[in-house]
Amino acid sequence: MMTTTEQLYQLYLQHSVISTDTRKIGSGSLFFALKGDKFDANTFAKQAIEAGAAYAIIDNPEYQLGERYLLVDDVLTTLQDLARHHRRQLQIPVVGLTGTNGKTTTKELINAVLSQHFKTQATQGNLNNHIGVPLTILTIDATHEAAVIEMGANHQKEIELLCSIAQPSHGMITNVGKAHLEGFGGVEGVKKGKGELYDFLAPQPPKGGAFEKQDRIAFINSDDAVLMEMADARHLHHVVYYGTQDIDNLISGEIIENAPLLTIQWTNNTTGQTYTVKTQLTGAYNLNNILAAISIGTYFKLSAKEINAGIEGYQPKNNRSQIVQTATNTLICDYYNANPSSMMVAIENIGKIDAKRKVLILGDMFELGDESPAEHLIVIQKALDTPVDERIFIGKDFPAAAKSMNHQPSAIDHFYLTAEDAIAGLKKNPIKNSTILIKGSRGMALERLVELF
Ligand code: ATP
Ligand code: MG
Repeated sequence: MMTTTEQLYQLYLQHSVISTDTRKIGSGSLFFALKGDKFDANTFAKQAIEAGAAYAIIDNPEYQLGERYLLVDDVLTTLQDLARHHRRQLQIPVVGLTGTNGKTTTKELINAVLSQHFKTQATQGNLNNHIGVPLTILTIDATHEAAVIEMGANHQKEIELLCSIAQPSHGMITNVGKAHLEGFGGVEGVKKGKGELYDFLAPQPPKGGAFEKQDRIAFINSDDAVLMEMADARHLHHVVYYGTQDIDNLISGEIIENAPLLTIQWTNNTTGQTYTVKTQLTGAYNLNNILAAISIGTYFKLSAKEINAGIEGYQPKNNRSQIVQTATNTLICDYYNANPSSMMVAIENIGKIDAKRKVLILGDMFELGDESPAEHLIVIQKALDTPVDERIFIGKDFPAAAKSMNHQPSAIDHFYLTAEDAIAGLKKNPIKNSTILIKGSRGMALERLVELF
């Protein structure tokens, strides 16, 4: 007999902990036997029960070994249905975020701000997909007062699905840029895919339920013409703006120092009060992420003191624009990931910061499909036009781009096909007394270089 979502929900209310990994079974948890590319966790159900799970949720009857094995049609959709059902019971604001770049940073900043005043729950790390979002929703309990949920996507309809689960009452697209071009089908495809969040926030015809009638609010960076156009097209009317210029913004702000940590100034446009905040973030692009979090804090009526404490206290530890001071160098560790948009802003930033000697270390960008040669060309052009003292390119795509533009390497440019080659080269010519940007796609694993500096 199949177990229904309602039956599972009753068990969830009693047990409240969900496990998906037999190496980390919470005692008395509900184990969801998900499938991956290389495994089928139905085969681990017995192990999960032996390790202390109260129930195993499976979708293959062959592994049903007793009453504690609950059979469903499909484990993944059951997990998603359970989370959706749970979300409906929660009467709290859920801030949903998507966008090409800056989701995790903005999520962390919003959580740092809101947690000054509310008991919050937020996506852990980068668990932003069709499994991470439901698992995050299922960690919210009756004591939480607000939640911040990161939603990632690399193809169409993914954000629509994640919105149907997280049902954000407040939402934000950080920006729309160039990433996962392969899966989305070009930049227009990215706009459409990320726009599914605005579709969800757009006025809904009432369907009778209390939730459907509730207003959903979009937070929009008014400096971003693409987002403004996407919002207009959907007639979003519950909108809160933030940015650098527009006086219609709830809050506005600007950078007053970037050396390489940012100090910013922001104004609450309702009261006219202005504040200065010293942050622990680098990168001019982080201004948008910081203003996003300040706008949410202001909207939820936190005091400026609480908002500033949240922003000042947030220190990235996740290799996203993280500053690491070594004996002789300042590292901008941004090697968590890279795509054309985030590469461009990171290079632009190092060009602008106050530092005596600057070095660029760039690794190839992945997942760009047919656009890859053209995008590497744009990025290398930018790198060559940016005033730095040394440039190191790692991977196959950058040298190919340099070749296609007939670039004659100057004494400050070095090309290495692999990280191993780069390590050998850098051991011979160590870098000292420099500010070094290190950025490349995850697959390049540029963290391997860090111990050299
Ligand atoms: P992922 O898609 O991997 O989840 P993400 O959207 O969560 O990424 P972050 O992890 O916050 O983004 O940031 C990754 C990198 O993107 C940063 O280190 C920085 O290089 C760049 N970045 C961050 N914010 C912005 C922004 N607002 N605009 C452009 N680039 C940004
Ligand atoms: Mg992220």
